[in-house]
Amino acid sequence: RAKDLGRGRTAVFDPDIRARAAARLEATTALRRALGAGELRVYYQPVVDLSDESLLGFEALVRWQHPELGLLGPGAFVPEAEESGFVVPLGEWVLDTALEQSRRWAMTWAASTPPHVAVNVSARQLEEPDLAQVVANALTRHAFPAEALTLEITESAVMRDVLRNVENLRALRDTGLELSIDDFGTGYSSLVYLKRLPVTSLKIDREFVDGLGREAHDSAIVTAVVALARALELRVIAEGVETPSQLAELRRLGCDAAQGFFFSPPIPAEEAEQWVRCGRAPQAVRRAQPAPEA
Ligand code: C2E
Ligand code: MG
Ligand code: MG
Ligand code: MG
Repeated sequence: RAKDLGRGRTAVFDPDIRARAAARLEATTALRRALGAGELRVYYQPVVDLSDESLLGFEALVRWQHPELGLLGPGAFVPEAEESGFVVPLGEWVLDTALEQSRRWAMTWAASTPPHVAVNVSARQLEEPDLAQVVANALTRHAFPAEALTLEITESAVMRDVLRNVENLRALRDTGLELSIDDFGTGYSSLVYLKRLPVTSLKIDREFVDGLGREAHDSAIVTAVVALARALELRVIAEGVETPSQLAELRRLGCDAAQGFFFSPPIPAEEAEQWVRCGRAPQAVRRAQPAPEA
């Protein structure tokens, strides 16, 4: 044990670790510059109501329009930002941008509220003691109704430090916003904790949506998640819906809402605006309804 600790201490001088730290610093410097240079974008993926396929709102997903590498997904830079802590200002920027955008859409939108927006919050952000205050300030700044905002937190992020995070989640819920557990089923949520978490919905990970209509096990898992959600009075949103048969199966199983390439990939704000105007998929992208099952 002592030997392990000793080894841990000298590890700072390990050239591998030093190289990795240097690479991380460099990545963060580049990302900070990109944010300042206006190269980061927020894309919006429509979330639809499964009862009638009307638009409920969007999930905001960050992108980096890199001058040389093209459009980069979050997988290319969010993990480094998470490690360096830059994900905190990055996340604030995404929240701010998404609220401002959705607020602007309120004029085009039939309802009196802005379209609902869901923003991802990382483990690192969840550990910031002033997260709820930062979010409340953003809501005030944009005169945005709290109930039109969902924060998505992955199961593994919550579980990292449940006791501390529950406090933060409660403070967030007190502002009136919705909280969703993202990638549900892929982490280690203990059902005991799930009962105590002040969340309002579960997002079924695409891993389980994938085999719907093909693999009996996936239908069984989704059935169980929907039943669990009902018992805890939570809404269920499916992610990664790509085919009509997955959609039909999700409906049959009683899932409330869905998003996925079947409806639309994440799209820039200008394209998402067409959805807002129509209140559903615009004619140009509307697909044939899945044939009723025999
Ligand atoms: P997530 O929150 O689970 O987001 C869903 C991911 O699934 C998105 O990937 C989306 O493009 C992708 N997706 C949606 N529908 C389909 C489908 O039908 N098929 C397939 N194969 N994929 C689909 P993306 O945009 O690459 O984001 C990946 C992850 O990065 C997100 O997973 C989220 O955890 C994280 N992320 C994205 N934006 C942010 C952000 O602003 N802040 C933080 N902290 N994390 C973010
Ligand atoms: Mg998400
Ligand atoms: Mg997800
Ligand atoms: Mg996922």
